[in-house]
Amino acid sequence: MTHVITGTCCNDSACAFSCPVNCIHPAPGEPGYGSAELLFIDPDACIDCGACVDACPVHAVVPDYDLEERDQPFADLARAWFAVEENSGYPQEQKRLPAFTVAEPSALRVAVIGTGPAACYAIDALTSVRGLQVEVTVVERLLAPGGLVRYGVAPDHPETKAIGDQFLRTLARSSVSLHLGVEVGRDVTFEQLASTHHAVIVGSGAAAGRRLGIPGDDLAGVISAADFVGWYNGHPDYANLAVDLSGERAVVVGNGNVAIDVARVLLSGVDRLRRTDIAQHALEAFAASNVREVVLVGRRGIEHAAFTASELEGLARVPGLRISAVTAELEPTLGELSPERRTIVEHKASRLRKLAG
Ligand code: SF4
Ligand code: SF4
Repeated sequence: MTHVITGTCCNDSACAFSCPVNCIHPAPGEPGYGSAELLFIDPDACIDCGACVDACPVHAVVPDYDLEERDQPFADLARAWFAVEENSGYPQEQKRLPAFTVAEPSALRVAVIGTGPAACYAIDALTSVRGLQVEVTVVERLLAPGGLVRYGVAPDHPETKAIGDQFLRTLARSSVSLHLGVEVGRDVTFEQLASTHHAVIVGSGAAAGRRLGIPGDDLAGVISAADFVGWYNGHPDYANLAVDLSGERAVVVGNGNVAIDVARVLLSGVDRLRRTDIAQHALEAFAASNVREVVLVGRRGIEHAAFTASELEGLARVPGLRISAVTAELEPTLGELSPERRTIVEHKASRLRKLAG
């Protein structure tokens, strides 16, 4: 038996530090962690203790005897990943978190801007060090915390959104003072924060979409995914976005996970979306939508496509959705890729060929 990490994994690596035999990789500091789509459990080293199941905030780890058929590709991918020589040979002893020390442990004051994942992981790291006295001031421009988790994760991904519960617990710690509706530059200056704290962490992320910078990118009907995602997730800044769903075909430029999210939400059908926490105004717009086809356009080949294997499986699970692809473009150029990256790319190309076949 073994355990398997499935598609909701968000790479926070909590499980890697809980494993007594160090069989979850790549972990922080190991080759490939920075570009990993998800972590893998070595099926030959796992002793089935279950510690990683409890450590995972998004319930991504399951014992193989509970693995659903649809999650089998993740078990296959893990086995393929560890079959690569560079991904094996790790010592079988539990990882330890690096020691954290400050010169004046009783006097550390940190301001954090934002309440999304980056900010909350930073706050968690600061406030969970035993013996460290720290006061964290958190300022959030919006009236609700969560940032990307609340307004960026697709509404039909409740497992991923579940990590927001952990963030709320972090923000409720006694050493944290949370100030909602406070905007840096309007209500408080960066200099004020810097002069009253030892450090300021900017965890607010990219607040706006980036235009393509090509002729036509300002035509009616061209909107950034950041705005569109904010619109269907109830972000107050985008509540009045003009979204025209009267055409039968939508084009998404790009092929990262957000592009796949947008395609899936556009084609999910209102009955499926009704079972999510999608914003009411968006649900009404999707109920009247004429969109029946979404074309995803990528600038480069499958070896550079940024969508993850998990996101592809999520797309494949939409009932009634037919996936097609230009098969000639599903032959990856593997030459420049690292061995661990090569395994993932080959897996994605193979799955896509099968799904489109
Ligand atoms: S079940 Fe135990 S041994 Fe297996 S990966 Fe999880 S923590 Fe490690
Ligand atoms: S999301 Fe779960 S499975 Fe993925 S790295 Fe974090 S703890 Fe591990």
